[in-house]
Amino acid sequence: MTKYILEIIYLIASTTFILGLKMLGNPASARKGNLIAAFGMVIAIFGTIFLYTDASGNHLKNLPLIFGGLMLGTVVGWIAAKRVQMTAMPEMVSLFNGMGGACAMLISVIEFQHLTDASHNDFYNAVVNSATLIPKGELTTILIGMIIGSVSFAGSIIAYGKLSGKVKDKSFNAQQFINIGLMLVIIVLAVLAVVNVDANMFYAVLALSLVYGILFVLPIGGADMPVVISLLNSFTGVAAACGGFLYDNKVMLVGGILVGSAGTLLTMVMCKAMNRSLLNVLIGNFGGAKGEAATSSSFQGSTKEITASDAAILMKYAKKVVIVPGYGLAVAQAQHVVHELEELLEKEGVEVKYAIHPVAGRMPGHMNVLLAESNVSYDKLVEMEEINPEFNTTDVVLVVGANDVVNPAAKTDPNSPIYGMPILEVENATNVIVNKRSMKAGYAGIENELFFKPKTSMLFGDAKKALTQLVSEIKSLG
Ligand code: NDP
Repeated sequence: MTKYILEIIYLIASTTFILGLKMLGNPASARKGNLIAAFGMVIAIFGTIFLYTDASGNHLKNLPLIFGGLMLGTVVGWIAAKRVQMTAMPEMVSLFNGMGGACAMLISVIEFQHLTDASHNDFYNAVVNSATLIPKGELTTILIGMIIGSVSFAGSIIAYGKLSGKVKDKSFNAQQFINIGLMLVIIVLAVLAVVNVDANMFYAVLALSLVYGILFVLPIGGADMPVVISLLNSFTGVAAACGGFLYDNKVMLVGGILVGSAGTLLTMVMCKAMNRSLLNVLIGNFGGAKGEAATSSSFQGSTKEITASDAAILMKYAKKVVIVPGYGLAVAQAQHVVHELEELLEKEGVEVKYAIHPVAGRMPGHMNVLLAESNVSYDKLVEMEEINPEFNTTDVVLVVGANDVVNPAAKTDPNSPIYGMPILEVENATNVIVNKRSMKAGYAGIENELFFKPKTSMLFGDAKKALTQLVSEIKSLG
């Protein structure tokens, strides 16, 4: 009986995952979707703890250990999520993703031990080689889960380090060949580990997969982190799905497949956004500086500053204004005031849109999440492909804390680490106002020629302060 109740719980949980994922597709329903999926996860966990029975009808043992782990994880996760600054969200997401990979890796290690111990204890072991007793299908699943889980774990920790600025990009000679070679060695050893049921090989594969995870993410730099982040996400999902296969646990399988496929789709979207091929990502040689990128001294002319009152006049009397949000908007937490500015301009009869670059900010969908928080209407957020043809009919572009996503070097400088990445072509507008605090570079660490163009005016200052001032200047114009 309990078995059937558990199956129903798994079915409900799986449905909440699908529903939750669907609702995450829209900022308006995302919060509710997250809660619904979390509810599904809670009932799946407690259902498993209390109702799961093995073939001989035994319930789970080690309950104090399980609840100890659950409580520790809940407390740490709760505190981390409560304390995290909005700007540190991307690295926290990376860290949590790494924990998922680590779980899959540990599950594989434990199940490998179970499997091999069971065969060693087997009565027939006295006369038959233990290797022939072990189900190879199960062992293969264990190894696949272990390899993908450990690559995801090690890679996500490096990604965490990079996003938080603790780890710098590191390219090394023949890195492509080393990565391909390492991948091949891992595959060969994994096959041998399955065929010979060799524990030494198994742990060698584990160690090499961790090294591969590090080497694969370490050189990825410039503006290409978004691709690797979504790829690591999908890895964790696939590794969890392997666990689902292993335990014949439907909810784990569904959850893993959903994360794996959503992550894969996101990776493809990101690859397209960055104009990269997936093969390049897997081999891990893109994004790092390919030569000497342009420096400010290589640009002609100087920058031009604009005051808030002049910017206010320009925007109030414009027909169409496009706002380009970037990472600086998140840093300044200026999402509410930018919405206020948008509403004010609309009241004055100005058409206002937001141009959303797929990799703006520090995590996929960062700008959408941020602007949804301040209730910006979703239909005002226009994707890059759609907005680019509109810039030449735009009177004023207001760039708020964005840099790489509007850097023309992506089109003009083959040595630039962002070369090939499609950008928001703001220079086609009549006027460009760029708000940032200084002339400092963005994530890719390169200068931006846009700031030196005759059409561009710099509105220096923290985004929240500058936009607040802009709002009051527009109001004072009456
Ligand atoms: P950038 O990192 O290129 O630039 C952000 C700019 O914001 C900086 O130049 C900074 O200049 C300015 N800024 C910082 N704080 C403030 C503030 N308080 N007020 C005003 N301005 C501020 O951001 P973009 O969004 O243009 O590009 C995102 C970059 O991050 C891309 O290179 C992308 O590849 C990368 N990335 C994206 C991920 C994703 O998934 N979206 C993940 C990982 C990396 P200053 O210091 O002078 O103020």
